[in-house]
Amino acid sequence: MSNKTHFGFEEVNTDQKAAKVGNVFHSVAAEYDLMNDVMSFGMHRLWKRMLLELAGLPENAVVLDIASGTGDIPKLISDKFPSSQIHVTDINGSMLALGKERSINENFFHNCSFALVSGEALPYQDQTFDLITISFGLRNFTDKQAGLKEMKRVLKPGGILLILEFSKPTNSIFSKIYDWYSFNVIPKLGNLLVGDANSYKYLAESIRMHPAQEELKQMVLECGFERCKFYNLVNGVVAIHQAK
Ligand code: SAM
Repeated sequence: MSNKTHFGFEEVNTDQKAAKVGNVFHSVAAEYDLMNDVMSFGMHRLWKRMLLELAGLPENAVVLDIASGTGDIPKLISDKFPSSQIHVTDINGSMLALGKERSINENFFHNCSFALVSGEALPYQDQTFDLITISFGLRNFTDKQAGLKEMKRVLKPGGILLILEFSKPTNSIFSKIYDWYSFNVIPKLGNLLVGDANSYKYLAESIRMHPAQEELKQMVLECGFERCKFYNLVNGVVAIHQAK
């Protein structure tokens, strides 16, 4: 891997990125859920439900959710697959603590174990999980290939990988409106609701630096997965990649 990478539009040394991403999520953690609802007009809830629609699981399945944040995906997995055992993980202690608290408040703690884990170096044995989910996390990785290879390593043969991530709108007029919204409205909302415009500027920039649908699909295949396909939501603003 090159020793340079991107933090939004800024070029940084690879060893600096995780700390910079860490600062973003420490800063926004307390208002993270509110901002998601406001920025996406509540649509992120639907996107996350759609993600789970693509997961079929046996009884007592073992699931890894990477970059769990405040626990939206573990909550949905617990509701849909009550016998599953969910490994709830995040690199960021502030976000993971909110996810844990929520699991107690919303009564899905019994399905979950919690660990401070980087998705780029997974501390699990080969072929452990029936399902791996990652929602709005991959974009923040320093080395996405390393992360995807780790996911492949710990997934059981026949297991499913589901990635929910911002992607590229397919319609050029819609894309211009979306760009205007991302760079003009979202940082202002960040300032108003969280007191932090820069973290939301990073959000808009990191989305533009993330591989588009087809490119991410190729990356997933190159990292050893098979039968990768993607689904565009809201004209490709968001995409779900599913691979076996
Ligand atoms: N999955 C949640 C959701 O969909 O609402 C949270 C997504 S939030 C936008 C991104 C999360 O990725 C943050 O909680 C952040 O700490 C985490 N993250 C960033 N880099 C990571 C990495 N290398 N490994 C694991 N988690 C990471």
